[in-house]
Amino acid sequence: MNYSRILDEIKAICPHSFIRLAEPMANHTFIQTGGNADIYIKPENVEEVQKITRYSFIKRIPLTILGYGTNVIIRDRGIRGIVMILDNLNEIKVYENEIKAESGASIIDVSKAALKHHLSGMEFACGIPGSVGGALMMNAGAYGGEISFVLKKAKVIMMSGDLRTLDESDFQFGYRRSIFEKENYMVLEAIFQLEKGSSMQIQEKMDRFTSLRQQKQPLEYPSCGSVFKRPPNCFAGKLISDSGLQGKRIGGAEVSTKHAGFIVNVNHATSTDYLHLIQYIQETVKRKYNIEIETEVKIIGEE
Ligand code: FAD
Repeated sequence: MNYSRILDEIKAICPHSFIRLAEPMANHTFIQTGGNADIYIKPENVEEVQKITRYSFIKRIPLTILGYGTNVIIRDRGIRGIVMILDNLNEIKVYENEIKAESGASIIDVSKAALKHHLSGMEFACGIPGSVGGALMMNAGAYGGEISFVLKKAKVIMMSGDLRTLDESDFQFGYRRSIFEKENYMVLEAIFQLEKGSSMQIQEKMDRFTSLRQQKQPLEYPSCGSVFKRPPNCFAGKLISDSGLQGKRIGGAEVSTKHAGFIVNVNHATSTDYLHLIQYIQETVKRKYNIEIETEVKIIGEE
């Protein structure tokens, strides 16, 4: 593909968007790994998101949407086509018991806005480091709460560039699953339905969750959170620690000694180090317990 021509064409239709060729994705993932994206775009507004989506659909250029990169491993060969990041669309507005947030807003900031307006229901999200779009897509959850409990409406853009508004009957939420993933919908905006509560109690809950995270998670290192989904009736972290894998290192990636479900980047890891370590963990757990553990983290990019 002639990427400089594509760049010129996109610049002509989206003059306000930030566009770059051969952008290192290691700068945009929490684990600080990943090869180059052929074309990296940060649109300035919804109209430009729509134009870029339509353009890539018509020209058949692969389009990947990313949030804050807290739950992805991008392979070292990088991502072909366009990578679009929506963090310029980050408005949060509060109306009575509802919060409307754009896709690129931080879900932590949504929980802070809820606290400020005495709204309860978003406390669980106070330490989840992703964007609103990523949180909807993953049905992110923690400490007994999850997106599916509070999401009322979502505005999405389909791969064709058409807009659609979804409500509770459309979401098809499951454990780390959603319609957004199934149908390849790009989230543009979410409306959360919350309940009036006591600020003191909301703050207490958030403080408790924050302190639990600080005690249990290796927040001092780059990571992508829990790498594996919870298998039925057990915990991936327990299977990994019972397999004696904590501290196991491949290249610069290490199974955290603090939380066995996390893989931390301790020394200039590559995505290949991460992927080899994931495979090693899966094979070891399968051999010892005959249980297959699936990744929760999304692995994307050229193989
Ligand atoms: P990304 O990692 O950028 O993307 C994840 C997936 O979502 C990708 O497939 C991407 O294509 C897709 N996506 C992103 N934006 C959009 C959009 N606008 N529309 C459609 N698809 C989109 N997760 C939990 O659930 N609970 C936790 O307690 C938790 N704790 C964590 C702690 C740490 C230290 C870390 C690093 C991660 C943790 N995570 C947790 C994982 C992660 O933060 C969440 O899954 C988060 O919701 C991902 O959001 P993101 O913006 O970073 O998405």
